[in-house]
Amino acid sequence: MTSAPVGENEADRLAALYGYRILDTQAEQEFDEITELAAQICGVPIALVSLIDADRQWFKSRIGLEAEQTARGVSFCAHAIQQGAEIFEVPNALEDARFFDNPLVTDSPEIRFYAGTPLVTPEGFAVGTLCVIDTVPRTLSEQQQKTLRLLGRQVVRQMEQRLVLRREKKLRKALSQRARFQQALLDSAAVAIITTDVHGILTSANPATCRLLGYAPEEIMGCSVIDTFHVREELEVRARELSQELGSKVGWRNALVARVLLGQPETREWHYRRKDGQLVPVELTASALRDEDGGLYGYVGMSLDISERKNALAALRNSEARLQMAMSAARINLWDANPETGRITLDARWLEFIGDEPVEKEMSLAELAELVPSQEAPRVLAQLMATVKGEQPDYVMEHRVRHRDGHWIWIESRGRVVERDGAGRALRLIGTNIDITERKRVEQLKSEFVSMVSHELRTPLTSIGGALGLVCGGALGEMPAQVRSMLDIAYKNSQRLMHLINDLLDMEKLEAGMMRFDFKETELMPLVEQAIESTKAYAEQYRVPLVLAEHARGVRVRVDTGRLLQVLSNYLSNAVKFSPQGAPVEVRVSMQPDWVRVEVADHGEGVPLAFRERIFQKFSQADASDSRQKGGTGLGLAISKELMERMSGRVGFASPPGEGARFYFELPRVHMPPVLATAGS
Ligand code: ADP
Repeated sequence: MTSAPVGENEADRLAALYGYRILDTQAEQEFDEITELAAQICGVPIALVSLIDADRQWFKSRIGLEAEQTARGVSFCAHAIQQGAEIFEVPNALEDARFFDNPLVTDSPEIRFYAGTPLVTPEGFAVGTLCVIDTVPRTLSEQQQKTLRLLGRQVVRQMEQRLVLRREKKLRKALSQRARFQQALLDSAAVAIITTDVHGILTSANPATCRLLGYAPEEIMGCSVIDTFHVREELEVRARELSQELGSKVGWRNALVARVLLGQPETREWHYRRKDGQLVPVELTASALRDEDGGLYGYVGMSLDISERKNALAALRNSEARLQMAMSAARINLWDANPETGRITLDARWLEFIGDEPVEKEMSLAELAELVPSQEAPRVLAQLMATVKGEQPDYVMEHRVRHRDGHWIWIESRGRVVERDGAGRALRLIGTNIDITERKRVEQLKSEFVSMVSHELRTPLTSIGGALGLVCGGALGEMPAQVRSMLDIAYKNSQRLMHLINDLLDMEKLEAGMMRFDFKETELMPLVEQAIESTKAYAEQYRVPLVLAEHARGVRVRVDTGRLLQVLSNYLSNAVKFSPQGAPVEVRVSMQPDWVRVEVADHGEGVPLAFRERIFQKFSQADASDSRQKGGTGLGLAISKELMERMSGRVGFASPPGEGARFYFELPRVHMPPVLATAGS
């Protein structure tokens, strides 16, 4: 027995066969009818459509044979497919050297005669045969051969047909999936999507369209969009605009799609009228629907309801307008700074305010600093930097700026960092300026008056105090106890009055910029200790211990020592005054890289919430009745603040509920030059 050789193109041949996806499928009538016909015409009991797989032949259709497949090695058909398009005929297998001992010959089905016409695909691959078989020797007539060949071609055609059907089915499935997907999109879209024919008659509208307009789908389908959306008037306006823009007359019916027809995008705002009569603003994007040949068959319109956007915009504009009104009425102007670049945007009002052309403008920090009096500029800059670094929440500063014509204007400037990056760097600082020149003028008059009165009072009061002091000190000898107690009261009160007048005069000097500072670089701790020492006697009267709870040796500052002591003793005496008996007052000195903080903490009632804003202002006391209970002028903290700021420092306090008050000041540290530092240690 000889097995058929395998052709060189076997891999491609198999690929072609597998491409039909026909192996191991059910029997099909179309194929069975052909084999039936082949068997009849050739007058044989067996006819097969046999497909040659890698190592078997499998029968797609079989007449007169039970087996569904046999091994390729024993297959007659495997020989047949090597014949090109020719019929392979074996008249008597017993007499053929290739087949006489083939088990299909020696055993069932005892083949004697075989004739097979190859099934050649359009690409030229013989994937199998249509064959006829008999158990007795025979030959085919020419007519029979011709018919067998024809039928063989029919089989291939059937296989091709199957393939086409399969592809179509797949395509149909893909198409219907796509259609379902598109439908789902349309149904769920928030945007109203419609299609129309070329005359603007609605051919489809998604649910969002019906929601937008308040119609049921059947109420609008087949209607003209122009009537449904009530856009006639707007169309007429648009048509006039377009006629001008395009330089040729555009009819109003075409206004919506004129640009689309020119191949340009068309997106603009329209107002649709809903069924209930309400107008809705929408943004409509229109485009053309064209078939494969470019023929226009309709339009698609997508309308987005923009009422919320418009309302939000209107609300924003309103509030902007109100804000502008309020700010111009209150004479507030705005600035907006970028701490990274040091550039500051000033609004038109600001520039008008300093006598410049009133248009919004950007300036550098240096340019701005030039508008501030040179002695005030460092303080302004220091406060700005502290705000930028986040060392204080708000920038609040009163200072002067020079008007272009040379006179000075007082402003109250406030600012806050509104944006920081991940690393905490300030990206944006915005703020306001208010003109407080008038207020300053009134304050000036007031303080001049107070100062005049104080001066006038001081001389007589000094002699009254001096005289009372002498008498109480026993300079005139013993007095009756009653007289003595009266004189003591008079003496104490003259001292209090003196204290008040001194405070008033200090304040006045500070405000007028007349206070002289004798700056010296010095170590801080000895000053703190000295202040504690000199408040001890006063504290003992109240039975309040003074404790230095934290110190920072070696820290140096540049201050007027007398003024620093004045601030410290104000803090200390306040703390003592407001402490319950026996509760200690703690002083803490703590270091930061560039600053040193001195804090005086007590365990008293703390500062009432409502009073916190004003505490560093002149004449402010939490409760006017306090002054009677505790004594004081309400000037101490205001003076402390001024003094500290003149010494490039700053003041503050914390008063957590139930924990007493902690007043502090902070001063820039003066670092000793390295040489001195080593020499000193
Ligand atoms: P005074 O001379 O009245 O003490 P200050 O300016 O020193 O003036 O203080 C103003 C007010 O601040 C005080 O009257 C008091 O209401 C409040 N205050 C100051 N220090 C403390 C403190 N340690 N605890 C509670 N309140 C304080």
